[in-house]
Parts: sequence; C-alpha cells; structure tokens
Amino acid sequence: MSTALALIPVVAQRTVAASPDAAPAERVAGAMRGFAAEIGALSAFRMESCIHCGICAESCHYYIATEDPRYTPIWKIEPFKQAYKRESSAFAPVIRALGLKRAVTAVELQEWQHLLFDSCNLCGRCSLICPMGIDIAALIEQARHAMFDAGLAPPELYEKAVHQAMTGQPEPSSEPYRDQLLAIGRKFGVAIPLDLAQVDVMLCVPRTDIEQYPAAVAALARVMAHLGVSCTFRSDALLAENYGYFAGGKELQKAISRRLIDEAIACGAGTLLVPECGHAYTALRWEAADLYGKKLPFKVLHVTEFLADALRDGTLRLSSAAGETGAVTFHDPCQLVRKGGVRHAPREILKALGVQLNELSNHGDFTFCCGGGGGVIDIPQATPLRYRTMEIKLREIDATGARTFLTSCSDCRRTFDDAKTHFDWQKSPDSLLELVAANLVTVAARP
Ligand code: SF4
Ligand code: SF4
Repeated sequence: MSTALALIPVVAQRTVAASPDAAPAERVAGAMRGFAAEIGALSAFRMESCIHCGICAESCHYYIATEDPRYTPIWKIEPFKQAYKRESSAFAPVIRALGLKRAVTAVELQEWQHLLFDSCNLCGRCSLICPMGIDIAALIEQARHAMFDAGLAPPELYEKAVHQAMTGQPEPSSEPYRDQLLAIGRKFGVAIPLDLAQVDVMLCVPRTDIEQYPAAVAALARVMAHLGVSCTFRSDALLAENYGYFAGGKELQKAISRRLIDEAIACGAGTLLVPECGHAYTALRWEAADLYGKKLPFKVLHVTEFLADALRDGTLRLSSAAGETGAVTFHDPCQLVRKGGVRHAPREILKALGVQLNELSNHGDFTFCCGGGGGVIDIPQATPLRYRTMEIKLREIDATGARTFLTSCSDCRRTFDDAKTHFDWQKSPDSLLELVAANLVTVAARP
C-alpha cells in the first residue's frame, strides 16, 4: 500500500474529531481534552513559574506595534492557564470548590483563535527574553494543538493540512508539483534527480519555491550537481512545508513528516536536506523524531548548514559576489536561528562570497520575525495586523543602507514580497542559495 493510502484512515479519523462544525460544548471539551493531554510536568512548571513581570510584551512585535495588552505573549495562553489551574494543578480541587477559576467558555476560545493563530508567529522571541526561562512559544504551540482538537484552527490552515496529509500537496494544482519540478529543470537547464534509489542525500522543496521562486529550485539542483552529491527528490515526498504544524494538528503533522521520513529511508539517504524553509526545519529537525516515536535514521540539515560544511571541508569554493550585490543585509529566519541555532552558517557563506554584511539592529538570536511565520501569511484575516507588525522589520532593513537584502527561507521571501507590493517598498528579498549557485568555483581535482 502506498504511504498516502496508508495515512488516510489516520487522517480521516482525526479530522472528524476536529471538525470546525462541532457544537460549542463539544469544542470546549475537545480543547480541554487536548490541552490536558499536552500538559506534562515541564509545561505545568512553565505556567507556574510566571512572575507576571510583563517583559515578554516588549519582545513581541505584535505588542510593540500595537501596545495592545492582549498581545502580551503570556496572555495568549490565558484560557489554557485557567484550565490548567482549574483542572490539573495541585490546588485544582480547592480552586474548583471555591470557584476561584471559572470554566473556559466556547466564546472565549473563539476569541482566542485570533491570539493563538492570527497574532503569533511561533517565532520564540518571547521565550528568549523571559527572565524565568519560560518557553512561551512552546506553550502557544501546545495551545494550538488544543484549539485544533476543538475545531478552532483557522479553516485555511486546517484545510491545507488535511489536503497535504492526504495527497502530499496542501492544495490541488493545475499540474502536479512533480511535473512542475521537472519543468523547472528544463526551463533552467539543470538536471532534476528524481526517484533515485540509494543516495546519500534526499532533497525536498518548498511549495513556495515551486510556485513563486523556481530559480531557487534550480539553484538547489545546480549546487548539488556541482558538489557531486549523490541525491534525489522523491515524488511521494516532494514538499518541505508542514501545514499540520501550522494548524496545530499533531496527527496531520505526523502524517506529513512521515512521508518524508519513509521516503528518506526508502532511498537509503544518510541526510535529509531541508531547503530554504524555516518552519520545515523545526518540523523535521526538532519535532519529527518525537512524533515518529524513535530516533530518525538520518541527519536533518538545513541547506545553509550543508553549504557551510562544504566550505569548511574545501569541497565548495565561491567567487566574490560583491560587485553584483553591493553591501548586503541578511534576515535570519526565526525557526533557523532562534530554534535551530543556525546563526553562523549563513554568515560563513556570506564571508566566502566576499560581500559586506550590514547587520540589522536586531539580528541573529534577536531577529524579529518577518511577520508571516507560524502560518500567519496563509490566514487572510490576519493580514491587516501582519502589515502593522512588519513595519518594524522593514524600517530596520532600510536603516542598514544595504543594496541587497537576502534571506534563507522562502516563506520569509514571500512575506517580504507581499509587503513590497502593499507598502510600495523598494527592496526585493533574494535567496542566499541562489547567490551561491551563481558564484560557484570549480575545485581542481586533487592529483
Ligand atoms: S516575561 Fe516570563 S515571567 Fe514575565 S510575564 Fe512574560 S512569561 Fe511571565
Ligand atoms: S512567539 Fe513571537 S509572535 Fe508569538 S508571542 Fe512570542 S514573540 Fe510574539
């Protein structure tokens, strides 16, 4: 049985439980069940540790842009804190008996959809700054799981997650992505390795690149061929994105990750290479093994890590791109730098490209999100607020005076390109990988 067919019963069972049509009481019960299932000792400890200092507010671009206290990060999990205190904390029987915390209502949960999905990028800046070390973004992610169980994930994310888990694509397309991938190879004159058996590296691709940035797809194939890497894409697991992660549907996230895991095992890959996609890195590098239930039998690397390794071992050499780019600035995708620690790799690559790097005032671990992360770019109702929060980032980019603006995540590119149109902003985000592909130097074979 194909992977896709094997997944259908799992996905179908889950989607019935999480139907957006559920009655209000059922929604609350679903959310609380989901949250209770998520709460372990660590989460309880995190919620108990909050000293209400409010410092996390100043870290979040939603609060900074609006000064609305509803956007204080820790407030975003308030219904779930209430539920925890009332149902699971050490003093829960006393709290219930004395009526110190009332039960969460369906109306409150509905309102919280805006706070947990539309106004959080899961970027983790608040977690970095909290003096008590509370991983607020992880709590928000858990609260999203509970909202999914209540049928309260935004429909745009829910539908894409279900479709991707069932078919491998988040949406139908006029031409299957597999065919589009091969067409990109033909258009850019680069061979696309597909469905090969026994390779060292399995490749995948962001749908955003297939649809919007095909040159980045060609760049990936070109760089791999230049380095002589034995690699392949796999028709049954082409996409890096994971809409289950965005929607908070753990079973869907698992089913989507499982496609990539099964195909990487099937082609004997020692490395699964994550392309220029930030959240795919989190989903595969940090969360897939947990959902899979055991250690992954291969490494997961982001393409910038892979390229930095190749620079260090001398297999990759680059010519100077300085004349082409002028001074550059670089946007660190949150999921790579803050959650993944991929901080030095892009800077090593930029150094090898000989370009002048004008850092953003908040860069590296302290980078602000592009505004589109956490699935927000795919939620239409979140758009006006997203534009408000993005202004911080756009001002920072302009202040660097750099001529070229680079990043290493296609969804960040998409978010900035959208802003370009909305704000009539003059910059266009470029791909670091494409710059590498344009400046490859052949390394002479050793005698
Ligand atoms: S910074 Fe940490 S301790 Fe302070 S209010 Fe936010 S979550 Fe609570
Ligand atoms: S994860 Fe990011 S967007 Fe979400 S509350 Fe924290 S700082 Fe704000």
